[in-house]
Amino acid sequence: MRQIRVTNVSGEVVVRGGRTFPPYQSVTTMISKSGMREVTACIHLRAEEVLEQTGVVPKVAFVLEPEPEPQAVEVDPLACPHCDYVGKSERGLKAHIRQMHPEE
Ligand SMILES: [Zn+2]
Repeated sequence: MRQIRVTNVSGEVVVRGGRTFPPYQSVTTMISKSGMREVTACIHLRAEEVLEQTGVVPKVAFVLEPEPEPQAVEVDPLACPHCDYVGKSERGLKAHIRQMHPEE
């Protein structure tokens, strides 16, 4: 068993090695070797070993990074900018815009 400080950098509760890590929080816990492997294998968790003699957490600067934003859905180049219509071709789209949105 070793004492580690685990930071959950994701916005979700993560359970690894029989421990629960609340989102965006650091938890100091005793953990077994196999539990440690699970924790270090998890991309959401950052583990640092706590020095047993002093109980001092080594100063490791880490930044809490929120999960990357989901990529914006790519705009269909044949989608009409004025309504939900999606053309089958550039010509079709242009014809649609001429007919349906003549004022644009
Ligand atoms: Zn349209």
